[in-house]
Amino acid sequence: MNDSAKTILLPFDEARRVVQQQAAKLTPTEPELISLLDAVGLALAEDLCADRDFPPFPRATRDGYAVRAADVQTVPARLRCLGTIKAGDDASQFKVAANEAVEIMTGAAVPSGADAVVMVEFTESDGNCVAVKRAVKPGENVVQAGAEARNGQVMVPRGTRVQHAVVAVAAAVGRPEVAAYRRPRVVILATGDELVDVNLPPGPHEIRNSNSYSLAAQVYEAGGDATILPVARDEAAELALLVRKGLEADLLLLTGGVSMGKYDLVEEVLASLGAEFFFTGVAIQPGKPLVFGQVTIEGSTTTFFGLPGNPVSTMVTFQLFVRPVLDALGGAKPEPLPFVQAHLTAAFSTKTGLTRFLPGRLCGSLASPEVEWVRWQGSGDLMSIVKSHCYIVVPPDRERLDAGEAVTVLLA
Ligand code: AMP
Ligand code: MG
Repeated sequence: MNDSAKTILLPFDEARRVVQQQAAKLTPTEPELISLLDAVGLALAEDLCADRDFPPFPRATRDGYAVRAADVQTVPARLRCLGTIKAGDDASQFKVAANEAVEIMTGAAVPSGADAVVMVEFTESDGNCVAVKRAVKPGENVVQAGAEARNGQVMVPRGTRVQHAVVAVAAAVGRPEVAAYRRPRVVILATGDELVDVNLPPGPHEIRNSNSYSLAAQVYEAGGDATILPVARDEAAELALLVRKGLEADLLLLTGGVSMGKYDLVEEVLASLGAEFFFTGVAIQPGKPLVFGQVTIEGSTTTFFGLPGNPVSTMVTFQLFVRPVLDALGGAKPEPLPFVQAHLTAAFSTKTGLTRFLPGRLCGSLASPEVEWVRWQGSGDLMSIVKSHCYIVVPPDRERLDAGEAVTVLLA
């Protein structure tokens, strides 16, 4: 650790709280009208409202016969069949009176007079009549007009991220374009003398820069627009130049150079630019050396994270800490972390002192969800992370977890 900033090492919960508090102070990007499918992953900048009742008519949910429930309380009941209504047909051509029925298809409007639908499986048609062999309650197999949403009602509130279900609602209310917050601009700056870019052959002691790319993917998935800067050497002046450039973005993400090593210069360089540090470490593994703060240059304030260089640490800390900031910048309402519980398939031991997020795979069954610990060589192990799709959370006071024990799992 350089002595340019004093160490602020927080427990996991407190660090999350600090991030959430800072995130709440951020101003979202400006809204723009954007075509529906391009808005996937972005947060709505408007409420999506019903432009009519949903459903707009009493909708049959089964193929069968629209009937008056009172007529079929004693079965079998023989009803006169007036005709057929399929989805899209005008139901007003029929009016169902006592002991009458209309053949109806799923999605069609139930005609007036009828108050229930008998499934075709429980009927037998004979020419102009139908025999109903099972009673129905009033309203059975019918969704009343407006039961899902009333005309004008908010169906999806502002701040919701657009995903396939939101797309469905937007399409259903006739919105080929929606107002969404512009993708926050995120600059990614990897640091390290050992790094070469993806399109160059690494020397025997060099490694390829994977973090800039994994981060760009995470940023994109989180509704941001990533720009990757050239790798910064472990040299203060060069790093400062690139950091300054990065601070023009809505959010700056650095990776590497935040540990205790002699060439870990990120904090020092940020401090030299007048950074305010909210914390400089979190008691977690992977991801302990994690720097979070903001810099104000010429009246403009930019939030930054110095993420650890080890690839698994970079990914975990993005999810735990960067995501809330990106949500806030992108106008999305804050979401809790997706924790679930599962039973451990096998025991394992660790050390106390840190909250651990260890690569895992959910397995098991509906009756007994299980999670398996994915063996790893530590937080630099890319193989462990492609094999996993969640993290097993180990509280800081636990040394050993037993087979069969219920543990908390963070979905990745
Ligand atoms: P550092 O945080 O700079 O001490 O780096 C910790 C470890 O992560 C070292 O083994 C680095 O080589 C590795 N590392 C740092 N940055 C990257 C990167 N951009 N891509 C892949 N590995 C990296
Ligand atoms: Mg380094």
